Amino acid sequence: MTTDVINPATGTVLTSVPSLGLAEVDQAIDRAQRAFPGWRAVAPGERARLLRRFAAVVEEHLDELADLEVRNAGHTIGNARWEAGNVRDVLNYYAGAPERLIGKQIPVAGGLDVTFHEPLGVVGIIVPWNFPMPIAGWGFAPALAAGNTVVLKPAELTPLTAIRLGELALEAGVPEGVFQIVPGKGSIVGQRFVTHPAVRKVCFTGSTEVGKSIMAGCADQVKRVTLELGGKSANIVFADADLEKAAAAAPASVFDNAGQDCCARSRLLVQESVYDKFLALLEPAVRAFRVQDPSDAAAEMGPLISAAHRTTVASYVEGADVAFVGNAPEGDGWWFPPTVLLAHSPGDRHWREEVFGPVLSVLPFRDEQEAVRLANDTEYGLSGSLWTRDLGRALRVSRAVETGALSVNSHSSVRYWTPFGGMKQSGLGRELGPDALHGFTDVKNVFLASGE
Ligand code: NAP
Ligand code: MG
Repeated sequence: MTTDVINPATGTVLTSVPSLGLAEVDQAIDRAQRAFPGWRAVAPGERARLLRRFAAVVEEHLDELADLEVRNAGHTIGNARWEAGNVRDVLNYYAGAPERLIGKQIPVAGGLDVTFHEPLGVVGIIVPWNFPMPIAGWGFAPALAAGNTVVLKPAELTPLTAIRLGELALEAGVPEGVFQIVPGKGSIVGQRFVTHPAVRKVCFTGSTEVGKSIMAGCADQVKRVTLELGGKSANIVFADADLEKAAAAAPASVFDNAGQDCCARSRLLVQESVYDKFLALLEPAVRAFRVQDPSDAAAEMGPLISAAHRTTVASYVEGADVAFVGNAPEGDGWWFPPTVLLAHSPGDRHWREEVFGPVLSVLPFRDEQEAVRLANDTEYGLSGSLWTRDLGRALRVSRAVETGALSVNSHSSVRYWTPFGGMKQSGLGRELGPDALHGFTDVKNVFLASGE
């Protein structure tokens, strides 16, 4: 079976890729299982060298990978280049790990006690369509570095860069079977990662609904699981902030990647006393946001991923109080303009649910206490920002907002040196940074008796 891959900027078919059935998935998992003893036995310095070589080959193909993502996912060329560069950087970062996967020596009576960080075996990575390259890399780079073998399922809508990365790994000298791309349906390939006993961990990024079913399925085999799920992050603007700067930065914090970003700051909370002034500053910034052919270097936003997704996004705008709307091309492709909606209560559907499109909801607040209460009035807890010149307030609010990552006077979420992941129903476990590696190992304790 094959699946057509469509360019979302034009609606035309780019190519078709295989969609694997159960028997083929099992064969890939068997190959990964057989490759595991050899890969874990590769000397740490040699495994580091292979990962650095893989990073170098990604660098050599950066333009090709970026161009594939522009055509397959509709990402702007600027973003796509960053994304391919992120795979290279994350590989280089975790290439430092095999030689530094250091255990402990613990003082005990009667001998020597040491701990080892043992790899788990085969790791299954399930990737969504919104950031095909980075999300794949955040899983496979630390998993491989820790000595695991990997089977990776890209989203059916966006398999092309993952398939290419699988080829580049082989070209770099990563042995056969160590890193395999397994394209196909979530309900077949992804589900098999959950049920196959040789897969010892599943890393899933996607919807909260599917994430919950994966966690429940993994329980049956006490399978390790990392979940990166949805978000409804708040951007809190206090009256004492640099309002010009906050207004200029707000559009990209929610419209980047057409809002198809789990970290999107899709809820804007503005202090009552500066509400009108802030919206007046925001409007020209939204209208000026450049939505155009994503292969154009000036583009700030491309199309949505699919016709079906555009229908879902549009359903949030119907009947809502629209403050203002930006521009988008007419004609073919799944275009949707940046849209700002006024929420009238925190119960409004567009305020509560993850739209995953270029839609920003705005609500005023009175004081710091109310801002924190409104920001936390959600089961999501992934990301967020706050803007203030008051250092004490920045610290208090940062500690009070229940999310895994926050930025003050900026919209940073993902830096590969630092941990990334959700609180509450936004996820479980952390990716990136120094912590992620231990998500791909189990600690083993060994006691050596000293004898008489
Ligand atoms: P999804 O269904 O959760 O898909 C994410 C990945 O999981 C895809 O690779 C998908 O495969 C796979 N999958 C689907 N059902 C599965 C199952 N039963 N077992 C194992 N794997 C399975 O997300 P979506 O339908 O693409 O998007 C729906 C909504 O999810 C979005 O509108 C957005 O709100 C949210 N979302 C969040 C993120 C995030 O970064 N946190 C990313 C994407 C979507 P196939 O699709 O190829 O079949
Ligand atoms: Mg789905």
